[in-house]
Order: sequence, then structure tokens, then C-alpha cells
Amino acid sequence: MFPVSFIQALEKIPGLDIKAFLDIHNQANSIPSIRLNPFKSIDKSFLSHLSIENAVPWSNYGYYLSSRPSFTFDPYFHAGAYYVQEASSMFIEHIINHIKQIDNQKEWKILDVCAAPGGKTTILSTAFPTSLLVSNEVIRSRANILVDNIIKWGNSSTIVTQNDPTQFSVISEFFNLMLIDAPCSGSGLFRKNKDAIAEWSPNNVQLCSQRQQRIIHDLLPALAQDGYLIYATCSYSIEENENIVNEIMCSNTMETIHIPIEPNWGIEEVITDQKAYCYRFWPYKVKGEGFFVACFRKKEQHLPLIPLREEDKKKQYKKSISSILHKWFQPKENMHYYEHNENVYALPEHIMENYNMLKQHLYIKKAGINIGKIIRNDLIPEHDLAMSNLLADDIIKIDVDYTTAIQYLRKENIQLHINYKGWVIITYGGMPLGWVKILANRINNYYPSSLKIIKSMNN
Ligand code: SAM
Repeated sequence: MFPVSFIQALEKIPGLDIKAFLDIHNQANSIPSIRLNPFKSIDKSFLSHLSIENAVPWSNYGYYLSSRPSFTFDPYFHAGAYYVQEASSMFIEHIINHIKQIDNQKEWKILDVCAAPGGKTTILSTAFPTSLLVSNEVIRSRANILVDNIIKWGNSSTIVTQNDPTQFSVISEFFNLMLIDAPCSGSGLFRKNKDAIAEWSPNNVQLCSQRQQRIIHDLLPALAQDGYLIYATCSYSIEENENIVNEIMCSNTMETIHIPIEPNWGIEEVITDQKAYCYRFWPYKVKGEGFFVACFRKKEQHLPLIPLREEDKKKQYKKSISSILHKWFQPKENMHYYEHNENVYALPEHIMENYNMLKQHLYIKKAGINIGKIIRNDLIPEHDLAMSNLLADDIIKIDVDYTTAIQYLRKENIQLHINYKGWVIITYGGMPLGWVKILANRINNYYPSSLKIIKSMNN
């Protein structure tokens, strides 16, 4: 099943039980798991249709499922009520909770630099709902998927950027929490993605390791003094894990952070040559896939490379617009409104200064909530607004049955029995799915074409 070179490389890892490793790959498939969106799924009764087994021990919101449902045909999935995420990755939530415990004073400025498709970004966004979160993905097609998943999650203070890590090095000493979930050779996910086994090679591991070193080198200058770095991969290779962690320690600017774990979780604590604490997940010991993670704090300052330029004085969006938006959008804090490609966006006022600085250096793909287009003193609302946690309570909402919800998500025509004309939110189990506009003789379905379900139920 595995290339000989892979087994030979594995056998170099201290603590590995090769027999147990091979057995688990031969005998068992990965266990599906989901993580709830606490801002949408407050009432957990909707979970009854999923085969929830028990909680993921290191997460407050993660649950194992006893079987894998068709998420495509679950309207709650499209509503952003949960994210389908492998359980080991949810350990990031545990690390963040620990960081928040040891350092509860900070105004957090967070960078998730390898963020697509967005699983760990949604963990960060849940843990820091009002903080600045820059969620970056260098590959364009993947950045689009990241935007879709962030829209579904519904938080307004996330900025999505599409930049190479080199472009962050000029933003000197800015972020105080950085996640590098590095592109890697992916051996930890072989149970989930068997095709990846054929692509594994020692050469590819070397290439990944070099790329990981470059990413770290480019990003460390952007980490503020006393800021935290979380480095993670889904690989078992020492070249991509311990060696990179040792490089980080050798920079002499970083100190290791010990993360408390419970013995019954099955997570292996590793201490590297450079005395860094790391956490390795073996699928035969934990209920999850292969994963590796380490956390650091920056002790010393990097010298600023390039001074930040003056904040640009681009036109502020007219104040009067907020009176039009009032009935659609109910922010819980002061928002700044700006126009981009004729659409009105809202970003929390307290992150504007940072946003203005970041946009001088980065390609910003999306910042805040896209509310919609204002035409003749009225709004054509966007899907982003429908998914947002800040949608106004007064908006008319119609809860539909399962069949209608799936028709809606397929962007088909739907029938509604309501004596009302205008914009309406379609909900399923109380959770918004998107907009329709009810006209005198028809109902226009505004579900985004790019998101519509095209798969047939029988596949
Ligand atoms: N954090 C994501 C999540 O939890 O959903 C998964 C990230 S995945 C392990 C690594 C990401 O790094 C991929 O989206 C990949 O496109 C991106 N990537 C690839 N090459 C890169 C590079 N040279 N620099 C930064 N990111 C890169």
C-alpha cells in the first residue's frame, strides 16, 4: 500500500509503532467530524439529523459522527451552522484557548497565512469574533473557496487577502498571533485521501521542507514582539516538522510554548533537539488523522524593514448611506462603510486604521461584509449579508421545508405562500440560506450561481 521509501522514512520517527500504524491504515477509514458555529447554531436540536457520536475532547464545538452524511444535501451545512473538519486539526482551538489564558490583555491582530479552504480560519474567527483576522491564501482558485467559507461563517471582521508570504515581510512587527498551517506532503491525511499516497516521495518532502523554511523566513518579521506563532502540518516527516521547529528556535527570537494536554487524548508530546515542545497526532493513538503542531512566542524584535507608508486618504463612504442600510443591517458595534465595485461593505470601525495600512501592502480580496448595491435610495442585498451574523431582525424571513430548501439551494424556482412583495430571507430550521425577491407574478431566486447544488441526490 505504501512506498518502501515512505515506510523507511517513518521508521526514523522515534515513538512510532509501525505495526499499529499499518493496521489502522488497512482496517479503518477516517472518522467524520464537524465543528459547530456557535454564532449560528445556538440551539443544537438541529443536530438530530446527523449521527452525532461524542465530543472531540480538545474542542468546545467539535463532534464525531458515526457515519458520513451527504453534507451537500444538508441545508444547515450551506447555512454555515457547522464546518466539516478533521478532529486533529481542531487542536488549534485548544492552543488558542491556552494562549488566551496566559495572555488575556492583548488587542489581537491575527494572520492565518495559508488559510484555504478556511477550516482553521473559522476556528480563529470563533475564538476572536471582534478582532482583526487577516485570512490569506496565495492560490487564486483556493482564495475564492476561502471567501465562500468565510461568508458562510458570517463574521464581519475578517479580511481575505491573496498574497505570497514574501509580501508580508514589509508589515513589520504587526501581527501578534500568526498561524502557519503549511503546505506539506500530506502523509497525515493518507486515510482520507488515498490518491495522495502515490504522490508521496522523499524528493517532494525535501521540496515541502524548503518551502516551509521560506514561508517562516518571510513571515517572522511581521510577527510582533510577544506575539505567538502556531506552526502546523498534516505530515509525519521530520524534515517538515521537527527540523522546521528547530530552525525557528535557532533564529533565537522565539521561545517554545508548552501546551497542556490530557494523557487520555493520545496526543504525543515531542521535545526537539532545540528544546521545543511539539504535538504529534498518530491516527492509531488519537481519534483523528495525522497532524503536527508547535507554538512559539517571539522574544525579540526584528528591525523594521521598511517604514509603513502614510495612511491613504481615500474617500470615506457618505454617512447618509447608513440610514438606508439601517433596516437591513444591525451591527453591534460602530461600523465603517466603504464602496468597492459599486457595492457597499461594512467593517468594524476599530479595525479601519489597520485595514488602511494593510491595503497599502497587500492584495485585499474581501474585507468585512458585502451588504449590497445601493440604487435609487434602496438596496439590492448581497448573499454575504444574508449569511452575516449582523442581518437585521426586521427582515422578513420564511422558514421552508427540506424539499423547498434543496430546491432553493439548487437555484430552482420555489413556491412560497405569502402575501408580501419584496426581499425575503429563506431560512431552514431558522437559519438563513439566502435571498429571494417576491414580485407580483414570480419569485426570483438570488442564491449565488457559483454555490448552487448541482450534484444529483442519487450520486
Ligand atoms: N489552513 C487551511 C485549513 O485549515 O482549511 C489548510 C491549509 S493547507 C494545509 C495549506 C495551504 O497553503 C493551501 O491552501 C495552499 O494553497 C497554500 N500554499 C501553497 N503554497 C504556498 C506558499 N508557497 N505559500 C503560502 N501558502 C501556500
